[in-house]
Amino acid sequence: MTFKTPLSFPVFEGNEQRYSSKAIQSGHLATHGEFIGMFESALSRRLGTHEAVALNSGTSALHLALVLLGVGPGDEVICQSFTFCASANPIVYLGATPVFVDSERDTWNMSPELLEDAILDRINEGKKPKAIIAVHLFGMPAKMNQIMEISQRYDIPVIEDAAEAIGSTLDGKQCGTFGTIGIFSFNGNKIMTTGGGGALISSDTRLLQKARYLSAQAREDLPYYQHLEIGYNYRMNNMAAAIGLAQLELLDQFIERRRDVNKRYRELLGNMPGIFFLDEKDGVFSNHWLTTITIDPDLSHTNNDKLRILLLKKDIESRFLWKPLHLQPVFRNMPFFGGDVAQSLFQTGLCLPSSVNLSLDNQREIVGLMKVNLSNTIS
Ligand SMILES: *Cc1c(COP(=O)(O)O)cnc(C)c1O
Repeated sequence: MTFKTPLSFPVFEGNEQRYSSKAIQSGHLATHGEFIGMFESALSRRLGTHEAVALNSGTSALHLALVLLGVGPGDEVICQSFTFCASANPIVYLGATPVFVDSERDTWNMSPELLEDAILDRINEGKKPKAIIAVHLFGMPAKMNQIMEISQRYDIPVIEDAAEAIGSTLDGKQCGTFGTIGIFSFNGNKIMTTGGGGALISSDTRLLQKARYLSAQAREDLPYYQHLEIGYNYRMNNMAAAIGLAQLELLDQFIERRRDVNKRYRELLGNMPGIFFLDEKDGVFSNHWLTTITIDPDLSHTNNDKLRILLLKKDIESRFLWKPLHLQPVFRNMPFFGGDVAQSLFQTGLCLPSSVNLSLDNQREIVGLMKVNLSNTIS
């Protein structure tokens, strides 16, 4: 479906055309070609510390991360409940069980206290979790200092799902670089895109080498095809990498513009009763991939679905926040630790159009429609 004003639409304002023409001229469109290495180097320069392996999606990056940490049938992996299904699906691909943990109010991400409760409970049951998947939802950094402390206390590695949070930082440190492994997504609706794509990052070169090997069908370095392990066709292709390199050059500008969108929503909507934004706490810098609000129905006399429908009638796309995974039918029998934080965010929240090229006029229209609804329902 296409909207006059979509939730998040990519822009190609830099070297995308030039680099992809070069890729075509080179004849290398698949997993050989100069742009893959260039994209990986540019990405690790951007992060400052870690090296990157470019892959064909964020989901495959998560799958590989779990493989690298030795997750297999019968294992348990702790995962934030308030997230997109792709954070947890790869756990199931490997025959392991996700154990879901609720969010906390400050960041909407995994509650460190509940994480520790979950770990202690599972250890008590004789099932020490194999890994922890922490997510930086909508670009907002999770409480990584506390989460890493717990990870070290119980010696359980952390995979950071930074699919939505490239360029976000906590105390000046890039999201994705706190855990043993971090992953990004460059899907079409993310803050930068390669069409479809992802990356796995780590400071552990041995893990990265293994990731690179497994992502290219686990082919041995021999003149014929020799395989000692089961691999995957997860490598990023050269065409995607060409676009990714150009998008990466624009990332800082994209972040600045998404943050401007967020700031303008706050200014335009700021004093409406019952509308709340998620604030950046001390030391936190969000890429503000999507601007999200929660709506208190008692104070605002409206709700997220009424606003969604109202905007939809004007061909403007808005969307509910992620439905917590412990409430998804497909995960209904999985263990869950927590209360109703993620659930209430889902019930009251809304993502607003947040594209880089969202115009001020567009934004005034959106807020104008919302305000009419809010004031009508009050009187
Ligand atoms: C988009 C996303 C993914 C998956 O990335 P793909 O590139 O679409 O496979 C994983 N986790 C989160 C939180 C995401 O938003």
